[in-house]
Amino acid sequence: MDLHGKTALVTGGGTGIGRATSLALAKRGAKVIVNYSRSRAEAEDTVRQITSEGGRALAIQADISRDGEVRDLFEAAARQLGPVHVLVNNAGVTKHIPMEDLDSATEEVWDELYATNVKGMFYCARAVAPHMKRSGQGAIVNIGSIAGQTGLGSSLPYAVSKAAVHGLTKSLARALAPDIRVNCIVPGAVATRWWTGKEAAMHRLAPNLLLQRISEPEDIAQLVCAALEQEAMTGQIITVDSGQTL
Ligand code: NAP
Repeated sequence: MDLHGKTALVTGGGTGIGRATSLALAKRGAKVIVNYSRSRAEAEDTVRQITSEGGRALAIQADISRDGEVRDLFEAAARQLGPVHVLVNNAGVTKHIPMEDLDSATEEVWDELYATNVKGMFYCARAVAPHMKRSGQGAIVNIGSIAGQTGLGSSLPYAVSKAAVHGLTKSLARALAPDIRVNCIVPGAVATRWWTGKEAAMHRLAPNLLLQRISEPEDIAQLVCAALEQEAMTGQIITVDSGQTL
């Protein structure tokens, strides 16, 4: 798919990996909807950067864990920048709970993480699918995590929710073929605000990785764009982790 002139929506598109992806899509000539739920200033700043470089972008607030807000988000996006051809399901949340502390993995924590990380991604795919089908093409990239492959992450419910994202990718690829391709990019550690307060641990990790480097958000954004562009691929789970899980 040639991204030039397409309308793309990035959930959580104003910070970290989402921001780098919004900028990378705009550089390839896409019109970008930068979704946010709380980080309005960051979303507006991302839009400003895109427009100052001659691109088209718009920030739209919506909590993707709420189906009604998701439907309104895609209607508003279509009204203002045209039907969405590209969805990057990037928004995610976690709770920091030691893996062995099962008692702290309460029902509330499970519900909160699943509502955004899993059901939110599904709501977005379901809402965008009719728009993509009408235009005869579409591509979705979900952001997973190596936590979903190794079982180890910021908390047990987070790791399981990301494993579910990998499964969701395969099921959506089947459900939405042949018009819509669905793939999953699986990052290892990426230097974003996700690591706030844990920067030292992140930097301690670097020498132990085969490539001895922590990924930058731009590394992930580049692969997201490649997966969107690649028309012979669907249902794939692609890891970009400096060799961490090899
Ligand atoms: P981040 O900057 O904190 O990004 C998370 C984004 O999700 C924020 O923009 C946030 O926006 C958005 N978000 C959260 N809940 C939302 C909701 N209900 N509705 C709409 N947006 C929501 O951290 P990041 O590292 O770039 O994370 C992006 C993705 O990468 C996540 O899915 C994460 O699981 C995944 N990942 C990150 C790493 C890493 O090491 N950084 C590794 C593997 C996977 P608001 O602030 O506006 O809510």
